[in-house]
Amino acid sequence: MLVATKVKLYPNQAQKVLLEKHFGSNRFVYNYFLAKRDEYYIKHKNAKKLSLSYLDTQQMLIRLKQEYPWLYEVNSQSLQMSLRFLDNAFKNFFHKNTDHPKFRKKGKHDYFAVPQHVKIKYNRIYFPKFSEGIYFKGSENKLNEIKSINQIVIKKEAGYYFCSIQYEVEAKAPKQKLMSESSVGIDLGIEKFATLSNGLSIENPRFLFKLEKRIKRLQKQLSKKIKGSNNRLKTILKLQKVYMKLRNERKDFQDKVSTAIAKQYDTIIIESLNIQRMQQNHIAHIAHIAKEITDTSFYTFKERLKWKAEKYGKNIIEIGKFEPSSKLCSRCGNIKHNLRLSDRIYCCDVCGLVTDRDYNAAKNIRKIGLIKVGLVQPEFTPVETATSSLQGLYPYKQMSVVEAGSSEALV
Ligand SMILES: [Zn+2]
Repeated sequence: MLVATKVKLYPNQAQKVLLEKHFGSNRFVYNYFLAKRDEYYIKHKNAKKLSLSYLDTQQMLIRLKQEYPWLYEVNSQSLQMSLRFLDNAFKNFFHKNTDHPKFRKKGKHDYFAVPQHVKIKYNRIYFPKFSEGIYFKGSENKLNEIKSINQIVIKKEAGYYFCSIQYEVEAKAPKQKLMSESSVGIDLGIEKFATLSNGLSIENPRFLFKLEKRIKRLQKQLSKKIKGSNNRLKTILKLQKVYMKLRNERKDFQDKVSTAIAKQYDTIIIESLNIQRMQQNHIAHIAHIAKEITDTSFYTFKERLKWKAEKYGKNIIEIGKFEPSSKLCSRCGNIKHNLRLSDRIYCCDVCGLVTDRDYNAAKNIRKIGLIKVGLVQPEFTPVETATSSLQGLYPYKQMSVVEAGSSEALV
C-alpha cells in the first residue's frame, strides 16, 4: 500500500539557493516543453503523428541542457519528472477532457519531484545534489522505519518548504468479517458534517467561515496594492498562510473523524458522491452549496476514510449515487418525491414517521449497503422488486423494521 507523509523542511542558506534553482529549472523545463508541444501540434495537425511524446521531449531535453548549461546544476531525474508531469497533463487533456495544461508560475507552482536515491536518517533527508541532507521535523520515528521510498515531492508554500514522502508499507491488517452488528451508515451533509445510522452526529466545523473574514480582508487589501510591489508580495504571502492554515485544520479534523469511525466499526457504508448532479438540481442554491462543499470536502474525507479502513482492516461498502437514500422513509419504505433540500425534518406521509432528515438517510444508507452485500435480506414482494430495487424493501405493513435504539427522539 502506497502512503504519503508531509514534513516541514529547514534548509540552510546554501540549500535554499539550490532549492530555488530546482524550482526555477523545473518550471523552465515544464513551460519550455509545454510551448514546444503546442507548437508541434499546430504544425502537425493533419499529420500522422499529432503530438510529441514523453520520449521525444526527453531526447530534446538533452540538447536543451547543452544550450543552457545551468540546467546541469539540478538533479536531472527531477527534470525528467517534470516532463512526466507535463506528459500526464497532456494525456488527461486529450483523453479525459480536462483543461489544457497551464504554464507554471513562479511563487505559485514551486515544486519538483525526486524519483530515486532518497534516504532518511534521523532528522535529515538525503537526495541527489543535497548530499549533506536537509533537516526536517515531523513523523521522524515512523519515517526511520521506511524500507523503500517511492518518490518525494518538494514544495514551497506560503514561504515555507515542505516535502511529501511517498512510500510503500507492507503490513496491512487482515480484513474483519462482514457483520451487520458492527456496521454503520454515514450520511455526509452540509448542515451537519456527518450523521451516523446509530443517531450520532458530527457537527460541521466551519473553518472557512472563521477564516473567511480574514481572507476577504486580505483579498481587498491585495486588490489595492501595486503589481510587483513588495507590499503586494507580503499580502500574497499572508493570504497563502491563511489558506494553508485552513487546509491543515481541515486535514486534522478529517483525520480525527475518519480514524474514530474506522476504529469503532467493522463495516462502514457510505454513498458515492455526485456533486455535479446535486448542484444541477438546485441551481438556486448553487453558489452557496458549492462553497459549502469545498469547505467540508466530502471527497477528501471519503479518501481518508477508505485509507483508514484499509489500515485497520475494516470494510467499506459504497452504495450507488442514484439510490434514493434521502427520500426513502427508513420505517415504511415510502418514497417522498417532493422532499426538498431545505427540509431538515423528514415527515412520512404514509406511516407518520417524523425524524431528522440526515438520520433517516444514514439509516437507509446502512440498510441499502447491507442488502447489497447480502447481510440483510430485503423484505419484498416479487412484483415490487420487478419495478424497483428499493420500494419493496420496507413494506409498510411491517413496522418492525425500525432498529433498536433509533430515532424519533432525535427531533
Ligand atoms: Zn414511512
